[in-house]
Amino acid sequence: MADEARIQQNKSPVAEEALGSQYVVIGEPERKAERTNIIVMKFGGTSVADATCIRRVANKIVDARKKGHPVVVVVSARGDTTDDLIKMAHEISDNPPAREMDMLLSTGERISAALVVMAIHELGYKAVSLTGSQAGIVTDTEHTKAKILDIKPHRIRQALDEDQIVLVAGFQGVSTDQNVTTLGRGGSDTTAVALAAALGAEACVIFTDVDGVYTADPRVVPEARKLDFVSSDEVLELTASGAKVMMLRSIEVARRFDVPLWVRSSFTDAPGTLIGQEEKSMEHAIISGVTYALDDAKVTIHDLPDRIGEAARVFTALAKANVNVDVIIQNVSAQGKADISFTAPEGDLPKITTVLTGLKDELQFASFDLDKEVAKVTLVGAGMKTYPGIAAKMFEVLAENGINLEMISTSSIKISCVIREQHAETAIRALHAAFKLHDDMATREEILS
Ligand code: ASP
Ligand code: MG
Repeated sequence: MADEARIQQNKSPVAEEALGSQYVVIGEPERKAERTNIIVMKFGGTSVADATCIRRVANKIVDARKKGHPVVVVVSARGDTTDDLIKMAHEISDNPPAREMDMLLSTGERISAALVVMAIHELGYKAVSLTGSQAGIVTDTEHTKAKILDIKPHRIRQALDEDQIVLVAGFQGVSTDQNVTTLGRGGSDTTAVALAAALGAEACVIFTDVDGVYTADPRVVPEARKLDFVSSDEVLELTASGAKVMMLRSIEVARRFDVPLWVRSSFTDAPGTLIGQEEKSMEHAIISGVTYALDDAKVTIHDLPDRIGEAARVFTALAKANVNVDVIIQNVSAQGKADISFTAPEGDLPKITTVLTGLKDELQFASFDLDKEVAKVTLVGAGMKTYPGIAAKMFEVLAENGINLEMISTSSIKISCVIREQHAETAIRALHAAFKLHDDMATREEILS
């Protein structure tokens, strides 16, 4: 009884906080506050692609175990397995049932987990693989894009107590109605971070095919520099605006539950990038990175009567249709009419067309057009808060390169500009050079001059 009361009491604040979350809710609150020396390691698909890779991964895992850490490992499906499984389904059906897609897709990660356990056994260590469901990952019932509601890691703890290394198949769980679910593409990152939060892990280490978070995509900007530290706020902005470091949701979870996150290469011993909370005492980089996204489209509504409430009606209708609107601008009205432009994912264009066609007569606008040839270029940096002049310099650099700004949006740590798609790479190279992102010793004066 006393125990029950304690658990009840401890549960409330965390449960309350969790219920307020729009992202995920993570359970087992009576234990979460305790930090342990558990390490959660996550290996992506390229890291387990073949037998050689799997042996390399097994060695890394055993090394961590030898240092005295209880180790929980999350793995992705090997190489292109998930894509291949999706193809297989579409060879059979144009519209496969979502529940069966999850039964199918969840197998990729199980294959990896079992193979890694075999490789660990070969090294003489005890290990066991668990499915998402066996690992206690409870999700909602949204097949193929389920959200984690709770984690009940009893079985993981029991295996750790028996001195086993625990392999968990990433990207999956079991729904509240007992079906296998998957968490959406890239979901193994979220499995790893959520487990680290639920277990109170010392750190969550994401092993991947790049050696950390870079100031820009090195394939486009060869001088891009690996960051030793970047705040989770910055990584959220970088990821939301096109950087492909980790699944966005996993960073939200890490930030929310303050999980120290390392991104490092599974092919080298380089230390990687630490993603964490910004400390007040820290000297912030003014700019941490520049990214671009090509998958947005720009929609313009022409000659919308300039009356109170028109914009509200347009965007309420779009929100109801689940369209993710990003940057919005409205121009100065002339003769009682105004144009409104906004960006949204290209994939949402069919929905947008339906919504706007339906509203045209009611709202009496003249027409609307869709433009896929846009790109969004974004500059991110926690230090922007304290240094004026960043936006001015960004616009100047783009202008010097003959790039026209079609839309602008800002938050306290980012500035985004919508430009013609064909200029995207020129823009990020120019910005990277102008803000001296290749040089971690550049002074404030040099950066802002
Ligand atoms: N295998 C899944 C995917 O390819 C999940 C993951 O890799 O994180 O999206
Ligand atoms: Mg585009």
